[in-house]
Amino acid sequence: MSPRPPLRITLLAGGVGGARFTRGLRDLLARRGVPAELTVVVNTGDDMWLDGLRVCPDLDTVMYTLAGVVHPEQGWGREGETTRVSAELHAYGLGWPWFTLGDLDIATHVARTELLRRGLPLSEVTARLSGRWDLGARLLPMSDQSVETHVELADGFGVVHFEEWWVRLRAATPARRFVQVGVEEAVAAPGVLDAIAGADVVLLPPSNPVVSIGTVLGVPGIRDALRATAAPVVGVAPIVGDAPVRGMADACLTTIGVETTALAVGEHYGARSRGGLLDGWLVDDTDADAVPALAEAGIEARALPLLMGDDAGPDGLTATDAIVLAALDLVGLGSRLR
Ligand code: GDP
Ligand code: CA
Repeated sequence: MSPRPPLRITLLAGGVGGARFTRGLRDLLARRGVPAELTVVVNTGDDMWLDGLRVCPDLDTVMYTLAGVVHPEQGWGREGETTRVSAELHAYGLGWPWFTLGDLDIATHVARTELLRRGLPLSEVTARLSGRWDLGARLLPMSDQSVETHVELADGFGVVHFEEWWVRLRAATPARRFVQVGVEEAVAAPGVLDAIAGADVVLLPPSNPVVSIGTVLGVPGIRDALRATAAPVVGVAPIVGDAPVRGMADACLTTIGVETTALAVGEHYGARSRGGLLDGWLVDDTDADAVPALAEAGIEARALPLLMGDDAGPDGLTATDAIVLAALDLVGLGSRLR
């Protein structure tokens, strides 16, 4: 019997949620000996220039997490990090005091900026940087062009970069509107549309539906590729019990007029059979009563505990494993991992 071809799984991701889910998926596939090709299409709307360096927060979160060097509690940045360089920069009156970059992290930004300066597109730069580690997944920025999420605040408060709103203002100043600067001219990075079209399954890990997934979907062609792919599309709700698990996704959802519930986010993405994006949607046990309403909206849903965790239970599965298996079960692929 000829060996089965690798399972091709494409994920759309923001930062921490997508990174942790992808790590769990990769590790479970490896433990079960299932050959797979993972492609992670990463939001770059949070990218910015800081102290002359190109910083790509979500790409780095995914890279550090898959490389096993991420700060375990924070979920972003490097483990065992120091901040001497940032302190020096601040002493020169540079940088943003509310956005401290670690020393090891700064090396990533220096390397990225130098490669960009040599003329390499971000997708190639990302391949070079992530080639240092054995990530077990291919990372693709959503686009090689700069698309920056800016936040229009209430009257008199102006417009700020997404990271300033999120980190300095803690999303407490209401956002009137999110603007993806440059999105009209952006093109999906090489490999992105093919990874969606050629996948066996496309997964939307728990990610911010507005400023992570919403931003990726704004790149011309990506939404259409999701609608057109023969692969089923399954998502994991980032909202549990009517609140984000971490972060302030509720503030983002309010701005776009979507309730902070797993049901409303599922309906916001919509059923593929009705012009939306989803075939399947996982919700937390707490939100199990949303399952019939989702079915009515044309989305096959299942409820299970959705808090990711890496400690194995009596069955040898971690909470993240169970979520990964449930997502693949919804589309008949879970048996490959059992
Ligand atoms: P970033 O890390 O700030 O770039 O954010 P992401 O786009 O990765 O969004 C993370 C989203 O996933 C947030 O809305 C969180 O509430 C959600 N999230 C984080 N951890 C978990 C988890 O363990 N389970 C679920 N269901 N959602 C989570
Ligand atoms: Ca992010």
